[in-house]
Amino acid sequence: MPELPEVEVTRQFINESLSKGDKITKVELRRKDLRYEIPTELKPLIKKSKFITVERRAKYLLWVFDNFQIINHLGMTGSWKALGKNNTLKKHDHVIFTLKNGDKLVYSDPRRFGYIDISKAPYNETLKEHRFLKHLGLEPFDKKFTGQYLKDLSKKTNTPVKTFIMDQKIVVGVGNIYACESLFTAGISPSKKASRVTLEKYNVLVKEIKKTLKKAIKTGGSTISDFKTGDNQSGYFQMHFKVYQKTGKPCEKCGSLIKKIVLGGRGTFYCSKCQR
Ligand SMILES: [Zn+2]
Repeated sequence: MPELPEVEVTRQFINESLSKGDKITKVELRRKDLRYEIPTELKPLIKKSKFITVERRAKYLLWVFDNFQIINHLGMTGSWKALGKNNTLKKHDHVIFTLKNGDKLVYSDPRRFGYIDISKAPYNETLKEHRFLKHLGLEPFDKKFTGQYLKDLSKKTNTPVKTFIMDQKIVVGVGNIYACESLFTAGISPSKKASRVTLEKYNVLVKEIKKTLKKAIKTGGSTISDFKTGDNQSGYFQMHFKVYQKTGKPCEKCGSLIKKIVLGGRGTFYCSKCQR
């Protein structure tokens, strides 16, 4: 599943393919729906609009045009790729934007859990009011996302710290991999009650979450040329993990074996000696 870093790299890739003021000259929808129906207004709106930029909110891409915005989620298997004039479309290429030089930006999604919606509200209003966006918590790179922020919110909860930091209403984009890795580097047991984690530990955890996500984005950034050729369909990055899916392997810090438990329905990997 594309996580926040993959979505962020996709955003950067689209912004490299399109410039402010560009027109998308042709829109082709090879299906009427993905997870939901694609709004029929999409085509006429794109025709009369100029591209401004693509922003990201959580795992949503916000294509900002001068008249409207596209809200796009990649679901489980969605990805954007660029195709030159002579490249042929594949089976799961569902939405095709043709640029003025003839190149195409193509949305592929074999499982079709992704979706495309539109908003004609002003940009800021869309961010605050759109049904997909309004319940989202802070961005992990927001200055307001601090140890104190987590400490304050954790007082009202009874959940394990891992479930707490994966709650999208608290902070967005901390997927299972990044939660496991950040808790390991911060030395916090994933099953510890969120309310019992100290402010000092939360300060370290926030720093580790930002660092882990930044590293993943940077790693993804180095594979961005794969996105351009359309070779990389999976959207997964070649990251080095310390605990994630390392069950039975020795911990890098202390040599004890990495354990796996299930927390909130998700496979959770940790070192019982280093994480307390
Ligand atoms: Zn260890």
